[in-house]
Amino acid sequence: MTAPWPALLQQLLPTITKLDPDVVASFSHDQAPLAPAGTASALVRARMAEDVTAVLAFANERHIPVVTRGAGTGLAGGANAVDGCIVLSVAAMNRIVKIDPGTRTAVVEPGVLNADLVREANALGLHYAPDPASREISTLGGNIATNAGGSCCLKYGVTGDHVASLKVALADGTIIDTGKITDKNVAGLDLTRLFVGSEGTLGVVLEATVRLLRKPLPPSTLVAFFSTVEAAARAIVAMEAQHDLSLLEVMDNTTLRAVDAMTRMDLDLDAAAFVLVQSDSPFADATMAACEAICGAHAARSVLRSSDAEESKHLVMARRMALPALEKLGTTLLDDVAVPKPALPEMFARIAEIGARQNVVIGTFGHAGDGNLHPTIVFRHDDEASKSAALRAFDEILEAAMSLGGTIAGEHGIGSLKQRYMTRMVGVREQQLMRGIKAVFDPRGIMNPGKGM
Ligand SMILES: Cc1cc2nc3c(=O)[nH]c(=O)nc-3n(C[C@H](O)[C@H](O)[C@H](O)COP(=O)(O)OP(=O)(O)OC[C@H]3O[C@@H](n4cnc5c(N)ncnc54)[C@H](O)[C@@H]3O)c2cc1C
Repeated sequence: MTAPWPALLQQLLPTITKLDPDVVASFSHDQAPLAPAGTASALVRARMAEDVTAVLAFANERHIPVVTRGAGTGLAGGANAVDGCIVLSVAAMNRIVKIDPGTRTAVVEPGVLNADLVREANALGLHYAPDPASREISTLGGNIATNAGGSCCLKYGVTGDHVASLKVALADGTIIDTGKITDKNVAGLDLTRLFVGSEGTLGVVLEATVRLLRKPLPPSTLVAFFSTVEAAARAIVAMEAQHDLSLLEVMDNTTLRAVDAMTRMDLDLDAAAFVLVQSDSPFADATMAACEAICGAHAARSVLRSSDAEESKHLVMARRMALPALEKLGTTLLDDVAVPKPALPEMFARIAEIGARQNVVIGTFGHAGDGNLHPTIVFRHDDEASKSAALRAFDEILEAAMSLGGTIAGEHGIGSLKQRYMTRMVGVREQQLMRGIKAVFDPRGIMNPGKGM
């Protein structure tokens, strides 16, 4: 009689396979509390490409699902285990292989933390732009697999805009190299872009060549407080339409208060909205003066401008604290909607109406310049009525975004959390095409099944 497959996997990769249920469970959930998660049968902590390909060949032969995991900071359940799967952690594959100033590219393993690459690139006068607020704790592999966004996307685009080529292990354990380092390359279908944002459903990123920028100029910063969210939203739309900005972020009063309680920054707690604006263009000071005038015209309560690097850093940090600060108020269910920018005032109004009707606390913050908001529902996990109200509010916010011509996933992906909305979001035919594409790469359907599409 042959041994059960976990024992065989342990024989194959003895030092990096873990079967202890507690250890396996601790790698089986990301940071989205209500995202469905199953029970994994094994954890493998890969150290090199050969470990990954060995796991995939083993799993593919036996039809065992594989869930790839970076740092597990995802907010949609993308790295959550599915029943009977192997969780394949690539966090320990964390070498920056090379930074090449000549081509302004870096070659990285998937477990490199975003901020570690930024520090290494900055030391050479270069910069890696995509800046999820989780950049200190999330991996580049995870960023690529979710096509992560951030504050700078307003000017510099999302992760996918900075990926030149990928080395990917396919479901059967074979390796392909997609893309080229050249600025131009139109040879055939763009498989690099297809893997970006595919949430571990098509293959495992083993290595990425990412593009670097010359280090941007230090930004000029403006912070404005408004008495109504609607006025803030109208000012945001006007500033974004008229000016070259590198950051345009928002926090509502609930978020502002939570952040202030955490950071003691002495923010204006009576304001309905806090708006943070930056420009790193050579004309940044003039741009900030023009934005100050726009905020004034939209009845801002107060406006503060700063070119001081430390002060600017603190203000950006305050915004980055939004989610951890709201998490101190209770369990959070985070939406990630994006709407066409002119629809922002209406989206804010609908969020307020949904919160009032469902009687739930919603703290909203986000990358307002991109139309990307994170309405964050705070609820009590041990109270079924509170949980149900949170889920209803979550659904209604997604519906509101779609009805305004927007999306249910601006930057966090679909994962297991939003899978059930995908047909409504993209339509039956498009969803079938997506699944057909997956079947080409992963005929046995072992790669992160039930996620992403
Ligand atoms: C405080 C906080 C702030 C955040 N801010 C932002 C933000 O501003 N913008 C934003 O976009 N996100 C943000 N996030 C969400 C999260 O950090 C991102 O989605 C991030 O890209 C996930 O990276 P990770 O390494 O944690 O990946 P994981 O959570 O481990 O995995 C995410 C997905 O990628 C897949 N995956 C991971 N590695 C690979 C690989 N090598 N090959 C193939 N698939 C892989 C997984 O299967 C899963 O589907 C935030 C999260 C937190 C906790």
